[in-house]
Formats: sequence, structure tokens, C-alpha cells
Amino acid sequence: MHHAAPLRLNNSQKDKQLVMQWPAEEPRVYSHERLRGACPCAKCRAENIQGYVALVNADVEIIAINPMGYGVQFVFNDGHDRGIYPWSYLHNLGT
Ligand SMILES: [Zn+2]
Repeated sequence: MHHAAPLRLNNSQKDKQLVMQWPAEEPRVYSHERLRGACPCAKCRAENIQGYVALVNADVEIIAINPMGYGVQFVFNDGHDRGIYPWSYLHNLGT
């Protein structure tokens, strides 16, 4: 099931946070570290299923965000850019 796209998306490299404004909700905050650890690409998902604990550098940053229609692709400063995060998945990750 698809979630509606956010109304606004605000990336702060200074705070290493992404703030997303979803329709009819308070803004949700996502740390870059949390988003990197929750990468839904095939490789990261396979590692999670095999029981690997994702060790994410706390200094990881999102350096680019590419719209993909049903979600976004994040490019991290550790070189990882394989994850495409659907809106429904992102919505559930926020706090
Ligand atoms: Zn990944």
C-alpha cells in the first residue's frame, strides 16, 4: 500500500537530520544515521536477514536526494546509494 508523498522534505547536513512534513501530521525527524541503517536495498536487506548488525558510522550524511516517484533515493557520504526508500517505508521510520 502506498503512502502519500510528503508535502515538504528538509535536509540539514549541519544537524545530520532530515525533516519530512507529511499530510495532516506534525513533521517527523529522521537522523541520517537511522536512514543509513534502514537502507532497503537488496544487499542491506540480505545482511539484515542473515543477522548482521548494521554498524553505521554516526558521522554518515545524506549528500543527495533523488526523487523516484514513489519515494526517494538517498546518496550517503560513505558512497552507498543503492537504497530507494518508498514513501510508506519512510513514513514508518520517522519519530
Ligand atoms: Zn543498502
